[in-house]
Amino acid sequence: MTGDASDLAVRRLRMVEEQIVRRGVRDENVLAAMRSVPRHLFVGEAAVADAYADTPLPIGFGQTISQPYMVALMTALLAVDVRSRVLEVGAGCGYQTAVLAEMAGEVYAIERLAPLAERARATLARLGYANVRLAVGDGVAGWRDEAPFQGILVAAAAAEVPPELRAQLADGGRLVIPLGRGEQVLTVVERVGDRFEERRDTRCRFVPLVRDAGPEERRRVVYDGGRAEAPHPEEAFEVRSVEAQVSGVVQGVYYRASARREGAARGLRGWVRNEADGSVRLRLQGEAAAVDAMLDWCRVGPPAAKVSRLTVRDVPADDTLRGFEVR
Ligand code: SAH
Repeated sequence: MTGDASDLAVRRLRMVEEQIVRRGVRDENVLAAMRSVPRHLFVGEAAVADAYADTPLPIGFGQTISQPYMVALMTALLAVDVRSRVLEVGAGCGYQTAVLAEMAGEVYAIERLAPLAERARATLARLGYANVRLAVGDGVAGWRDEAPFQGILVAAAAAEVPPELRAQLADGGRLVIPLGRGEQVLTVVERVGDRFEERRDTRCRFVPLVRDAGPEERRRVVYDGGRAEAPHPEEAFEVRSVEAQVSGVVQGVYYRASARREGAARGLRGWVRNEADGSVRLRLQGEAAAVDAMLDWCRVGPPAAKVSRLTVRDVPADDTLRGFEVR
């Protein structure tokens, strides 16, 4: 049962009262944004029934959309208004992006996984957000051309605040980020002149901020407030399509399960299977840099593997490949 539109709207209002107001978020602008953004359109078909539940939800590729309260809390801590220009790192399905777009003047959002960015693009375009620019790529380097920002929201956990992001914060601006390995603390960094004041808020749990997505120059804008004819995210990057064969001690060592996880985390399409001769064969397709990074992983494999040889050959791209599976 997914419920009709009015039922979903009722659930959304209840979500705000029971999960957010009751836990102490009182900023009226944040509450108004949370009341108006249709979270169920962002979570994906399978999760519509749980869209307004008090929990994070999987959005594919090993990533999650944060619990509604966490989105509201981070937005409240950022303290932005219509005069603010905001940077979001880790846009995921675009829900937090939309909440920010309700409150801030301009939102610049970056997501490293192209398929998720495509979902975010489609939903933001459908809802007509004109003050959002979305790019695929690494957000750790920030968005230099548009800096400084009055607010920077990082939706993935890091051991420390990336220095590039700190440098792109406006005087008086705030940066909100989960800090720590394993145990994480939502942290607010406020810039006062040349000083950075750090305040620890609540404990939290986010997926890690990944630093292998390449330099800022490789970033591609895929949504520009619905104005520019931005390329489709999957086409914005150079695609590489290969078959690889790995020999050595590679069966019975969790090579396939690990490869599936590594491939999915990089947004790749393809499969991995055991061959009768004791080797493992992989089909990898996706953004060229991600395929190359995956091949680097394949050369080493999981801890128990001993790879003696990796052979790679380019094959024609296959549009019908979906996800990354063990065969
Ligand atoms: N707020 C999002 C969910 C964030 S999950 C939502 O509403 O859906 C964290 C996201 O950060 C994931 O989608 C992950 O792919 C992305 N991410 C991780 N490292 C990144 C990086 N270096 N640059 C950009 N995005 C990154």
